[in-house]
Amino acid sequence: MVDIKKLVRENVLRLTPYSCARDEFKGSSGVFMDANENPYGNLNRYPDPYQKELKKEVSKLKGISEEKIFLGNGSDEIIDLCFRIFCNPGSDSALMFTPTYGMYEVSASVNDVKVIKVPLNGSFQIDIGRTEPFLSDNKLKLIFICSPNNPTSNAMNYSDVEYLISKFNGIVVIDEAYIDFSEKPSFMKLIGKYPNLILMQTFSKAFGLAAVRVGMAFADPDIIGYFNKLKPPYNISTINQKAALAKFRKLDEYNRQVQKIKAERERLAKILKKMKITEMVYPSDANFLLVKVKDANYIYNTLIDKNIIVRNRSSVIENCIRITVGKPNENNILIKALNSISI
Ligand code: PMP
Repeated sequence: MVDIKKLVRENVLRLTPYSCARDEFKGSSGVFMDANENPYGNLNRYPDPYQKELKKEVSKLKGISEEKIFLGNGSDEIIDLCFRIFCNPGSDSALMFTPTYGMYEVSASVNDVKVIKVPLNGSFQIDIGRTEPFLSDNKLKLIFICSPNNPTSNAMNYSDVEYLISKFNGIVVIDEAYIDFSEKPSFMKLIGKYPNLILMQTFSKAFGLAAVRVGMAFADPDIIGYFNKLKPPYNISTINQKAALAKFRKLDEYNRQVQKIKAERERLAKILKKMKITEMVYPSDANFLLVKVKDANYIYNTLIDKNIIVRNRSSVIENCIRITVGKPNENNILIKALNSISI
């Protein structure tokens, strides 16, 4: 069994966290003269530092107890906190399967943590054989697994991921930002089974709240405690908590949108596969398609000239563009533009 306390940085263990006014008095009514707030207005009070109302809804939706939930200012804050809790700058390392979401590497660099990149195999799956030798390195503290992965769009094999979690004596972070668009199962049921697992999801994709900046982490209460110890006291604004809460009153809209996006993804993939400029449309478990084309730079620039913006990923996968699934009329505009390109 992994001893989480042994993985946490010494300074984090020693840290006395900032105790804000709302930590010391938790009631919601009274004459508030404790936080140096302005007594006038309706956004004059500091937010709930632990977002209790929002966590209650997340807990119901995801079927996981509130003590196992942490909410961050987007998943990006959670990624950064993982480095700050577990990695000693200048000596520890983190492993990621490339190509993948760029923030893991950026966050590692910000925290002066060495990055070990293990390329995904030809099917964009984890190469267990190439990964295994790193698992015994006691400077390796974090392994990031993005599933479904950005930009390859596929989910990782369940048994490979569980094998790594069970063999590794450090922390495995699974990023499920795109899980709502996937038919493959979430790794959520492994929370509770493995104390070294952190699972991230976000309100930015299927929930349609990228502007709101709320990311979710699920883990054993010990790890959640360290997130709470390190986070800025009021990391999610009252406005953002309310915007996320409002979504829970519209869950049927969320479900309809996810179904629509998945249907459009399949329609778009089918049409793209028939185009002359297309070499390959990779199977997608996400709300985007990775497409290998004849000349990615030319296609990207031609689309830009037509005011259509896709992501040119040819620097990480040769001649590939990444297309986020839009509304039906937006997808039609893209299809028309691509049909007019001849190479
Ligand atoms: N994880 C992945 C895999 C992503 O692709 C992105 C954003 N594109 C994020 C996390 C960022 O999530 P958030 O908006 O919650 O910070």
